[in-house]
Amino acid sequence: MNEKSFIIRGNICYSEAREQLSVTDRGYLVCCKGISRGVYPVIPDEYRDLPVKDYGDRLVIPGMTDLHVHAPQYPFRGLGMDLELLDWLNTHTFPEESRYAELEYAEKAYQIFVDDLKKSASTRAVIFATIHIPATEFLMKQLDAAGLKTYVGKVNMDQNCTDTLREKDAEASLDRTAAWLRETAEKYPNTRPILTPRFAPTCSGPLLEGLGKLQKKYGLPVQSHLSENLSEIAWVQELFPWSSCYGNVYEHYGLFGKEAKTVMAHCVHSSDREVELMKRNGVYVAHCPQSNINLSSGIAPIRRYLEEGIPTGLGTDMAGGANMSMFRCMADAIGVSKLYWRLADQSRKPLTMEEAFFLATKGGGSFFGKTGSFEEGYEVDALVLDDSGIRTAKELNTKERLERYIYLAEEGGQIVGKYVAGKELLLS
Ligand SMILES: [Zn+2]
Repeated sequence: MNEKSFIIRGNICYSEAREQLSVTDRGYLVCCKGISRGVYPVIPDEYRDLPVKDYGDRLVIPGMTDLHVHAPQYPFRGLGMDLELLDWLNTHTFPEESRYAELEYAEKAYQIFVDDLKKSASTRAVIFATIHIPATEFLMKQLDAAGLKTYVGKVNMDQNCTDTLREKDAEASLDRTAAWLRETAEKYPNTRPILTPRFAPTCSGPLLEGLGKLQKKYGLPVQSHLSENLSEIAWVQELFPWSSCYGNVYEHYGLFGKEAKTVMAHCVHSSDREVELMKRNGVYVAHCPQSNINLSSGIAPIRRYLEEGIPTGLGTDMAGGANMSMFRCMADAIGVSKLYWRLADQSRKPLTMEEAFFLATKGGGSFFGKTGSFEEGYEVDALVLDDSGIRTAKELNTKERLERYIYLAEEGGQIVGKYVAGKELLLS
């Protein structure tokens, strides 16, 4: 019997479409070799021989994808939230990231990050590391061993940052990145490299051009930041005066969808031209609501991106976001969308619970392929949730229990089971 072939029994919820939540009380999720064969009210005859893991009255939902997170910023999460992006980078982020030159510190910090991510609701994540290769490789190795599916990026920076994080020049940055890719491109089954120009201001034209060539050579995905803050956008226009918009800088160098599967964090202030470019190139948006709040960046117009058909998911953006929980991220996404609707644009109605759940699971999960749902053919990433600690005298149906868990997970919710591509992770 394949260890990844079994049936999970519980109150099963998953997204079929953006506004369509499927709920099966006391249902059966059939997993064959790590792949879903569907959810049923009774076990179909052909699967009768599979072992059943009965989770009783608990909730069973797909694992979540954190589409944008900075592992080296984990140590100062919840600190230094009184600055806007560019000052915050110089005051808090760059000094902390400089410490990852020291492998001993990096090992200590990354081990805590990986341990906590393993216990979180995220089964998949798209992660920034730093410019430091030994520390980045340590992070990749630990994530792989934890059984989580991730993309990890060694960061590229050759200008406009503190000396301790600046790679000598474009050539040095590219040589180091090529060496890192030779070492890690095929090394880990669960952890894959992703090209990671930090953001346009810290990357020279020759560096971005070289990264475009590396992208082609290795067929790599790309992650970066886009249009998070108005000062940042003005700065990009100064640095790349020929560009028609911020996204055009990445596009010019072959790092913006089309050739490369690409995810851009934030997109809070994207112009019409930029939105059109994102749409045309299939660029993913990683919406990071808590970070939008903490760094006073503004609110990304997620309703617009959904209506335009731009692929979108959610990110914690630690430590711009303070919290690793994707449940908190969903609640924040709903909350800021209400403020956006009320204060910025009344034609963009707020996100519903179903939509936020879709973004955290199937929406962001699609960056990894068929993940984030229990529909037939999807990889089985699953969470088993115990909500008995979130007490109430009221009788709730399964959908209400899920909604409440999204808002109150930290109050008494507990993840008691976690599966990634059909493999159960040991959480204790
Ligand atoms: Zn970020």
